Amino acid sequence: MASATSSRARRSIEPAANLQAALGTALAQQPVPLLVLRLPEFERIAWRDGKRAARSLERKTVAAFNESVAPMLRRGDRCGHDPGSDVFAIAMSASTRGSRAVSPVGIRAVLERVAAAIALRCRLRVETGWVILARSGAPIDLQREFAIALERGARERERYEFFSVIAHELRTPLTSIRGYLETLLDEEPDGRTARRFLETARAEALRMGRLLDGMFEFSLLDLSSTALAGQSCRLDRQAVRACEVVALAARGRGIAVQRAVLRATVVALDADACLQLLVNLLENAVKYGREGGCVRISVQRQGSHAVVSVDDDGAGIAPSERESIFALRVRGSTSGSRPGTGIGLAIVKLIAERAGGCVQVLDSPLGGARFEAVLPLRQEKEESAACAS
Ligand code: ADP
Repeated sequence: MASATSSRARRSIEPAANLQAALGTALAQQPVPLLVLRLPEFERIAWRDGKRAARSLERKTVAAFNESVAPMLRRGDRCGHDPGSDVFAIAMSASTRGSRAVSPVGIRAVLERVAAAIALRCRLRVETGWVILARSGAPIDLQREFAIALERGARERERYEFFSVIAHELRTPLTSIRGYLETLLDEEPDGRTARRFLETARAEALRMGRLLDGMFEFSLLDLSSTALAGQSCRLDRQAVRACEVVALAARGRGIAVQRAVLRATVVALDADACLQLLVNLLENAVKYGREGGCVRISVQRQGSHAVVSVDDDGAGIAPSERESIFALRVRGSTSGSRPGTGIGLAIVKLIAERAGGCVQVLDSPLGGARFEAVLPLRQEKEESAACAS
């Protein structure tokens, strides 16, 4: 077995067969949480780079596992890993714990800490999961329990992603409503401006309601959804709305939001989804643009598609990151200390692709980033009868 760096840690890890035997005894006393970590890329690396590279990587992984898990172990807890295997397990079998004392939150905290230590040290993706083992009379099938735990972990992760996407979508209108209400209270603007602020706040509140209604109908993570099929909206009007939604945030950073003259353009996309896409791009341009600078939105037609561009004069995006920033929960090197979750662009991509379009990032003539979303136009003959939104 690979060596570990601390003597406490070295004692902690043992072959899975030992763990299985120890669990048999522990389960006679109490149910035992079994925590499982798996490195799905491990096998591929062994095939691609050879056994030596795989062994060296395994040594590093074992060291990271042992070091991170050691402070959380109690006497009687056990850790299992077989050389060459991609699975690591922790049985929280210390008699002082009592299974009820280990909450799901505590279990997830342990898993997250260990997974983060391995990911950081070895640059490997780590899957996690857990299960509570109880005495059943039948011998424990550890491999089966590993599979059950990991399957449960995958479902938990899906749920987490789903809710973080929903939270992200709800946060934008909420922030906008709050901003407009606070401005009304603090600045007491003239009657016309106040009315415009209230109308924007109301439109955002209504959109929030629709988001909540739609939440149970389909998940934005479900690429196969056809819930938006057949819908259309005026891209130019949604662009004006999106500028209003981000107006206060832009003002807060002294950024001027410019709208190129937009001619009436009907795209084959639901109005709310279109607004969400534009707001996400504009929010980012305002967030990552230069303080006191400017952001520009423009719409052009190219054949059967509309191209909407959002430009800023910030730091831009390095070519090496131009694909990865569209992945869910991936933040780029420009994020720095700015708040964020790495979800906005994933939603933009999903909406554009679901409508049959695409999105890309380029250099902006303003000096920063240009995000370009290509969206299919609604058929010309239908345009005249297009919806008013
Ligand atoms: P978040 O902003 O929450 O991190 P996003 O998915 O909206 O998540 O963006 C992903 C990453 O892309 C950001 O972390 C940031 O590094 C980069 N990014 C997005 N928009 C811009 C922009 N206009 N200029 C520079 N970087 C940007």
